[in-house]
Amino acid sequence: MAVRVRFAPSPTGHLHIGGVRTALFNYLFAKHHGGDFIFRIEDTDLERNVPGAEEEILKGFRWLGFDWAEGPDIGGPYGPYRCTERLNIYEEYANRLRDTGAIYPCFCTPEELEAERELAQKEGRMPRYSGKCRHLTEEQRAEKLRQGLVPNWRFAIPAGQEISFVDHIRGPVTFQADDIGDFVVIKSNGIPTYNFQVVIDDALMHITHVIRGEEHLSNTPRQILIYQALGFTVPEFAHLPQVLNTNRKKLSKRDPNVMPVHVYREKGYLPEAIVNFLALLGWSPGGEQEIMSMAEIAALFDLDRVNKSGAVFDTDKLKWMAGQYIRQLPVETLTEMVEDQLERHHVSLPEGKDRAWLQRVVSLYQEQMTCAEDFVTLAAGFFTPDITWNEEALRVLREEGALAVVDAYRQLCEQAEEWTPEASRARFKQIQSARGVKGRALFMPVRAAVTGEVHGPDLQQSISCLPKEWVLKRLQGAIAAASKSQPEV
Ligand code: GLU
Repeated sequence: MAVRVRFAPSPTGHLHIGGVRTALFNYLFAKHHGGDFIFRIEDTDLERNVPGAEEEILKGFRWLGFDWAEGPDIGGPYGPYRCTERLNIYEEYANRLRDTGAIYPCFCTPEELEAERELAQKEGRMPRYSGKCRHLTEEQRAEKLRQGLVPNWRFAIPAGQEISFVDHIRGPVTFQADDIGDFVVIKSNGIPTYNFQVVIDDALMHITHVIRGEEHLSNTPRQILIYQALGFTVPEFAHLPQVLNTNRKKLSKRDPNVMPVHVYREKGYLPEAIVNFLALLGWSPGGEQEIMSMAEIAALFDLDRVNKSGAVFDTDKLKWMAGQYIRQLPVETLTEMVEDQLERHHVSLPEGKDRAWLQRVVSLYQEQMTCAEDFVTLAAGFFTPDITWNEEALRVLREEGALAVVDAYRQLCEQAEEWTPEASRARFKQIQSARGVKGRALFMPVRAAVTGEVHGPDLQQSISCLPKEWVLKRLQGAIAAASKSQPEV
């Protein structure tokens, strides 16, 4: 049987990276087995739906390089793919369960249910519905309906049953039906609950494998009971371990180290890097190789190499991996991405500078970038004449002989006709022979003076990329700044 899997997000907010990991594992599983990956939008929790969220989710996945066989945007043979457009379908199946008595109307008020829950808690019992309305007679039910009460419909859990399945990641799992209270399948407003809707949809969409987060594990026995009550084939299940933060706590959507997918896109991360990183979040290819394309991962991917324990979201590793991908880019492509970032941050090129110039500056920083946006901060000194000198730079400038070197270099710049890396190198050579300074004592004061920092990319390239007037101004400024703040001896 051809594999069919689905990702079924609720459009309740931004696309979160944990959700992408779940979708990705489904996607890779489908690709590995030559099957289909399907999108379904689970929007029946009306109050939680956020306008625009569905578009953002699909846009995020398109950017990440997913393609899908069926979905709300492209339709398909088992549509509609938005649950609120399937209410008549749920109604039809609810009627079947009403006819067989598998579900019954519950007239309990929220206050009554709350009181039951509190009592259970006080007595140290697991809170679950008492089954009070299950035992109402036909007359009692008819009477309540006559009074205008609108019931929720609950699934009547068969007593004493064991519900077992073999999870692809955890192995055999068993639940006792007696531990599960009769749960609501159709709310009084006629909308199905998740546990009911998901079964109808997965069954009618011929989903073969349900791969989802571990937080749904306790829903699975409820869903299996509904499959059985409707005579549907039960699909296979795989519950993915949680994504954890570095304190090994469940990763929160609000974790400051983790951004929604659209933010990674806006900052100019490469989608291939995000995919690669997320694939390794709880799955391992079994070899040493870590940098892999979606196709390479899909060729190797299967559920048997998914870890049982939680996977830690390591931001440093993401940055490292993102940097690896940025390095592999042709500098022309990276320059285009950087142009978008400069525009986003309202930074314009210095007067007279063009794209070829920008490309030279980009190549100076390519090794250090994890995303295109990093350039805006790393290369800030190339976009404004004025800089400040950090403590380390000032310390270097105050070393014996440093300012003399800076001044000598400044004088040579003033006379310079050629403004190239070679010409800059020649100026240093000249100072070296005239003054006998070399190495760090020669280059470091000039670097500190021109960039305000002691670390940075190739000095000759950097200087030649900067406008001559800016370099002169900074050399002069550095001399003033270092002399002024020189501690009294
Ligand atoms: N809409 C559910 C969620 O976002 C889907 C759960 C499932 O995959 O069954 O958690």
